Amino acid sequence: MRVIRSVAEMKHFARQLRRAGATIALVPTMGALHEGHLSLVRRAKQECSAGIVSIFVNPAQFGPSEDLARYPRNLEKDVEALRPFEVDACFVPTAEDMYPADFITFVDPGAIVRRLEGAARPNHFRGVATIVLKLLGIVNPDLACFGQKDFQQAWVIRRLVSDFNLDVRVVLCPIVREADGLAASSRNVYLSAEERQSARLLNRSLERAKELVWNGESNSGLVTQAMRQLVEQDAGISLDYAVIVSPASFDTVERIAAGSVALVAARVGSARLIDNAILGPRGATEEELLEMAGS
Ligand code: AMP
Repeated sequence: MRVIRSVAEMKHFARQLRRAGATIALVPTMGALHEGHLSLVRRAKQECSAGIVSIFVNPAQFGPSEDLARYPRNLEKDVEALRPFEVDACFVPTAEDMYPADFITFVDPGAIVRRLEGAARPNHFRGVATIVLKLLGIVNPDLACFGQKDFQQAWVIRRLVSDFNLDVRVVLCPIVREADGLAASSRNVYLSAEERQSARLLNRSLERAKELVWNGESNSGLVTQAMRQLVEQDAGISLDYAVIVSPASFDTVERIAAGSVALVAARVGSARLIDNAILGPRGATEEELLEMAGS
């Protein structure tokens, strides 16, 4: 595996791979790799002959009061974690190379992304769409893997690819959870043992939603109320939103249908955590649920 630090070298290397007949899968990440990221890498290698993982803590997607400076970074450990997967390159560009002094063009993903994560994090999706478009331009992959964990982000990226007629297949991978049910996240390191107990309520609220739907409840208001009640029992967690949306429009729904998505976000201590679940029939596999949500 090559560790590539410059945009020019990455472009050259990807071109060489393509000339040699390889199909390329790209996995964009911000590093501090965990099992969630590695599930994307595994999928990338299953789908394509060459795999490229990018690691870049993208300043453009962080707000001024967010955790850019303290976001966990450990390149050596990340490179070690990637070794068993035989990816072809780990692309670790510098901020100066990605955003040179004369950089002026940003992607504006539209009003709809000013809701939910977009409302909590102004300009976040502008930064995400811009960096993903840049990475796709640099690597020119056949396929790019993203996680269901960041469901709204995946939606933005699908729109980006469709609106700009990009020639790349977007693959969404199911959420990987830690043993206690908490969705794997680089930000989980911010949690104390006590905060972690509170954080588990996010997944538990999603489990509650699933159960209610399995038992025939389709009233979205009732289900989100039950989710909220469960989380609000614990003073250690401050719920930002619990909503159920249509995966196509991202509008909140009144009646839950197969493929509707329950989304939650909360602050626990200094961490802001998000999680979600695709609602569908009891017994459906994660892949089947992703299909129901049109992914
Ligand atoms: P990040 O490094 O947080 O920007 O994440 C990079 C990619 O990994 C994104 O597509 C995320 O959605 C995905 N990802 C993060 N956490 C998980 C998880 N627990 N399960 C599956 N994918 C994840």
